Amino acid sequence: MTQALLDEIPDLPKVLLHDHLDGGLRPQTVLELCDAVGHELPATDADTLATWFRDAADSGSLPRYLETFDHTIAAMQTPDALARVAREAVLDLAADGVVYAEQRWAPEQHVQRGMSLPETVEAVQAGIDAGIAEAAAAGRTIRVGQLVTAMRHTDRWVEIAELAVAYRDAGVVGFDIAGPEDGFAPDRHAEVWRFLAEQNFPTTIHAGEAAGLDSISQAVHLGQADRLGHGVRIMEDVTLSEHDRTATLGRLAHWVRDHQIALEVCPVSNLQTNAAPGVTSVADHPITRLKELDFAVTLNTDNRLMSRTSMSHEMRLLVSEAGWTIDDLADVTLTAAWSAFCHHDERRELVDELILPGYQKVEGALR
Ligand SMILES: [Zn+2]
Repeated sequence: MTQALLDEIPDLPKVLLHDHLDGGLRPQTVLELCDAVGHELPATDADTLATWFRDAADSGSLPRYLETFDHTIAAMQTPDALARVAREAVLDLAADGVVYAEQRWAPEQHVQRGMSLPETVEAVQAGIDAGIAEAAAAGRTIRVGQLVTAMRHTDRWVEIAELAVAYRDAGVVGFDIAGPEDGFAPDRHAEVWRFLAEQNFPTTIHAGEAAGLDSISQAVHLGQADRLGHGVRIMEDVTLSEHDRTATLGRLAHWVRDHQIALEVCPVSNLQTNAAPGVTSVADHPITRLKELDFAVTLNTDNRLMSRTSMSHEMRLLVSEAGWTIDDLADVTLTAAWSAFCHHDERRELVDELILPGYQKVEGALR
């Protein structure tokens, strides 16, 4: 049965809420775009480069991990390059069965060669639109929104939030902050959260990855985050009994669960960055426990290039190593759909027209 399910995973409809545009390039595209601008890379062929990215991300060294983004970001400094990367991301996700995705990226990192912030957003949208049309022509339905990210350490949060809101009817569906979590908490620029709330604009915040409960608390209370990027360290507020595995939740864990604030969990990436301290395998990753405890768990890829992963790969690991069933996969997919930064009627359409029929088809094949 497990093997049959593993075989069907590529066909399951998937929803992806946490995927970085600058972390999901095709290796060949990195080579070609860097060649065009004279940026030197640590390898000269696609296979070696792919391995280099994975190894650097796996090294346990944060400087080496961050170096990987120097290369992808160097490749994405012109409108054509940004559009190409966005288009290919949409095609790659659609080919993996993703029917709804949010692509996050930080416009401020793409102005090194003279693009304005609005030009970067428009270039990414042009690529997304082209990818969606091309996927449709090949018989794949996918919807994609942009999540505009501000880097925590550069203090341009207000400007980037205004940019995101300005493009809300032109492809941007939400706002995010990323980068060094420790020392750059949401209270650094509290005014940004008030502005976004007044604009009724959706927000997700990377929190509970590199820092713990204080960071999550600020994200959900001060930042009024609708979702948490990773959020896995909420487990630090859950006490598991040694003898019968019952769980006692602290007040913050209750708050996050009571409000069903979606956790954008990225198992493979979390293992690479040690976001779940002491956890060294997908079998032990807290995603399974959090799901059993009825937190609003979603499954995500984070950086497909650096982690050499995909939605199908993450799902396969959970099935083969953590005992997940097709019902578990359906649960996280539906939670993600209901937590997407589109409107409620659009979510319902996604669930009724794409996800449930897709699952019914695969369940039929497995019978
Ligand atoms: Zn992330």
